[in-house]
Amino acid sequence: MTKTLFEQAKPILKTLQSNHYQAFFVGGSVRDYLMHKTIHDIDITTSATPEEVEAIFEKTIPIGREHGTVNVVYNGEHYEVTTFRAEGDYDDHRRPNEVFFVRELYEDVKRRDFTMNAIAMDADFHIHDYFNGQQDIENHIIRTVGNAHERFNEDALRIIRGLRFQAQLGFALENETFYGMKSHIHDIKYLSIERIVVELKKLTSGKYVAHSFENLQYLNAFNYIPFFKHYKLNDFILDEAIPFTLFVALLKAQQPLVNGTLNDLKISNNEKKDIGKLERLLNQLPNIKSKSDFKILLYDYGEQDILLILNFIDLHIKNHLPSFSPLIINIQSVKEESKKLPIHSRKDIDINGKDILEAVNKQSGPWLKTLLRDIEIAIINRDVQNIKPEIIRWVKSHVEIQ
Ligand code: ATP
Ligand code: MG
Repeated sequence: MTKTLFEQAKPILKTLQSNHYQAFFVGGSVRDYLMHKTIHDIDITTSATPEEVEAIFEKTIPIGREHGTVNVVYNGEHYEVTTFRAEGDYDDHRRPNEVFFVRELYEDVKRRDFTMNAIAMDADFHIHDYFNGQQDIENHIIRTVGNAHERFNEDALRIIRGLRFQAQLGFALENETFYGMKSHIHDIKYLSIERIVVELKKLTSGKYVAHSFENLQYLNAFNYIPFFKHYKLNDFILDEAIPFTLFVALLKAQQPLVNGTLNDLKISNNEKKDIGKLERLLNQLPNIKSKSDFKILLYDYGEQDILLILNFIDLHIKNHLPSFSPLIINIQSVKEESKKLPIHSRKDIDINGKDILEAVNKQSGPWLKTLLRDIEIAIINRDVQNIKPEIIRWVKSHVEIQ
């Protein structure tokens, strides 16, 4: 039951109230609760200032005190408690010049992005809905709180957020909201790429991404986003939910002559590595002409990434990526052959560089790397058994070492 998380957090609201402060659940958790969806993290908003919150609760962590957020640890769980906030003017389309703490709930929800995200709920599960968010949820409509032009002019990230909510929920964009997006889309160039990527990741993996991706294209949003602005996104089809990393890899593989650098996306090194690997794999697939090539590919890249690509084969085809042999590479063959592989990584080989040097009595050199690769391939092709003396015998009889 989705109510349980709220029940667990209820004592925090009650404690604040018994200290004569107001406190509510707010934001995504209330929206998801009203939509009968599973809720993940609960946000609490209160009239108490961060100092006042810290004075009331035994265990707190000042995670974002300057923005009014204190982490309250209660029963081993962490809850974000944020003071009612109002925002000053915006000059740079992304951050208010100043934020100030206020004592009215209305002032706090007024600065939130969409009506469905501006609904507050008290400890007794009573809803406080100043902007008809519930009605918009019922009608499946995404609508800004207040004037769309002003709200997008203040913070252009709300445009991308609106589209990501569309991708996740399948809601329609209310007319003024959509026109507001259109008028202010160029302001997304002022945003930090990190904030955009957070939203894009949720967007590409949203169930209803097809429609919102078309909207991104219609708005020419990608022209204003680092990295993506180098690519021709209007030629790209994204009509099913995919991981962001695969989306970027497909785009790079589709347009290999474009030299977009992943550093511009400011993603983690692991994500960069994942994209690079998927891109190399996409480029390798058309070169696989035999079962032996396929086994080596499977060994080099692993089952998981190949299956990921095969699961999205329709996107591969629709985006005109170079085709590959479905007879050799298919979901069944990947699973079967992967189980049959005699080794899955270099660690599984029953010999190491030192053993080889001893066996052939030679100085190390670049030849050793080539030889280890040859041994790997011979084991995968079952030309030699993965047993040390066998490998040594194979090396001595098959390979010439200068
Ligand atoms: P999710 O379920 O994906 O976390 P969410 O609505 O909780 O969705 P968050 O990014 O966690 O989204 O933000 C929490 C709340 O803060 C939002 O529901 C909204 O009320 C407010 N908010 C977040 N970003 C903005 C913004 N750029 N402008 C105005 N309000 C915002
Ligand atoms: Mg949230």
